[in-house]
Amino acid sequence: MAIDDGSTDDARLSVANVGKRYSGQQGPVQALEDVSFEIRPGEFVCVVGPSGSGKTTLFRIVGGLEEATTGNVSLNGDSVTGPHPDTGIVFQEYHLFPWRTVRANIAFGLERTDLPEAERERRVADLISLVGLSGFEDSYPKSLSGGMKQRVGLARALAMDPSLLLLDEPFGALDAQTKTRLQDELLDIWARTEKTVLFITHDVEEAVTLADRILVMDSDPGRIHDVVDVDLPRPRSRTDPEFGEYYERVLEGIRD
Ligand code: ADP
Ligand code: MG
Repeated sequence: MAIDDGSTDDARLSVANVGKRYSGQQGPVQALEDVSFEIRPGEFVCVVGPSGSGKTTLFRIVGGLEEATTGNVSLNGDSVTGPHPDTGIVFQEYHLFPWRTVRANIAFGLERTDLPEAERERRVADLISLVGLSGFEDSYPKSLSGGMKQRVGLARALAMDPSLLLLDEPFGALDAQTKTRLQDELLDIWARTEKTVLFITHDVEEAVTLADRILVMDSDPGRIHDVVDVDLPRPRSRTDPEFGEYYERVLEGIRD
């Protein structure tokens, strides 16, 4: 597999009229209806919505893990019909390989490329340092805290140098302090790598902390109910009155 070393690639994600209908046990469920949006290269977009509003379904469709019933998704002009090499995925539940060390978890995707071993090792070492896991290279997932597991998840997603980083409630299982710390580090990584980010969360404060733009979802059927551009400089402070105004605005979008 060819692997792109440059950072100039344009990640333009386009989601057009996406609908998803599941045939649930109590009859059909319209998990998504007519969802459309675009993300510019380098933009940080959060999707926020209550439980059941179709966020994970959207994540799975954009990640090529699930097929849409209607509509389509494209990344940099390519139609997404399965896992795309230019998308790095981070799950809430980590999904690490328990039998692999930190280093080997991060190296997983790179082992499937034709990169020389020395180059692979160099990349993995850089990623370990980027996510702050130096000293834990040979540890196994079971010995790591939740925050550290998610650092591994993040490094693994970044390993192939994707232009799009796609995350589904990645910090949802972490305590407040670890969560804040990882949010700061993710912003730092984003600023350094200029990735395009689609970050899914049910946490309004998290969305206002992170996003350039917030897509507010509504449930039954899941659709985009409101779009909020967050015009606040970073780093953002939760005690800033303007932060509070955005928080209220998004929360209202969810309550409506
Ligand atoms: P969220 O991540 O916002 O909580 P989901 O995308 O997980 O929302 O779910 C949206 C809706 O689709 C919910 O009503 C959920 O019960 C339903 N759903 C999700 N996955 C399936 C499935 N595999 N089969 C049937 N219904 C599903
Ligand atoms: Mg979900």
